[in-house]
Amino acid sequence: MALDTYNKKRDFTRTPEPKGATARKRGNSFVIQKHDATRLHYDFRLEMDGVLKSWAVTRGPSLVPSEKRLAVHVEDHPLDYGDFEGTIPKGEYGGGTVIVWDRGTWTPVGDPKKGMAKGHLEFELDGEKLGGRWHLVRLPMKPREKHDNWLLIKSDDAHAATPADPNILEQRPESVKTGRQVEEVAGEEPGWSSKTGKIDKKTAKPATAITVKGAKTAALPDFI
Ligand code: MN
Repeated sequence: MALDTYNKKRDFTRTPEPKGATARKRGNSFVIQKHDATRLHYDFRLEMDGVLKSWAVTRGPSLVPSEKRLAVHVEDHPLDYGDFEGTIPKGEYGGGTVIVWDRGTWTPVGDPKKGMAKGHLEFELDGEKLGGRWHLVRLPMKPREKHDNWLLIKSDDAHAATPADPNILEQRPESVKTGRQVEEVAGEEPGWSSKTGKIDKKTAKPATAITVKGAKTAALPDFI
């Protein structure tokens, strides 16, 4: 199953991140999460086949076409993850803070499955911060590399910028979900709820699944 790696890497009794399940619904969402972990990076995610295809962009996206950004292909994430903002406890996989830096929809140019296989995705983004045409291009794999490295590249169009323009990462550092900066999330307990904006006493301790009377096991996980 597509999310096995995602699930294996996480202890869901300890992290408030959603447990992974493949969604049956289909859409074309994209999300970029700013993740202040061991090393600050931006997680770039495109919805494809009921999961979020994911790349860790160490320096974040650039609107300047000549500034190609390394994008390390990482494990598929569940669709619910796109809504996640909060704290991953220290010592857990990806421990640190996460904000929803941008989100919206994406439109592939050509067949995205073929693009993934070929190592070249071309697409349009319609987000709150990012727009226009983009490319993800896979680099040749080197021996002993665990992940395949790609480059995230902005096309030269009306949404592109020049090196002299303000840097979008500095100009717009805030969450599109809550308006907070990643530093503002840092002081919060792991059980902070991105839905209510408050610390949920139930989930501040090890997260437990919400049991709904009469509920059957469904494709979508219980969201903590
Ligand atoms: Mn990350």
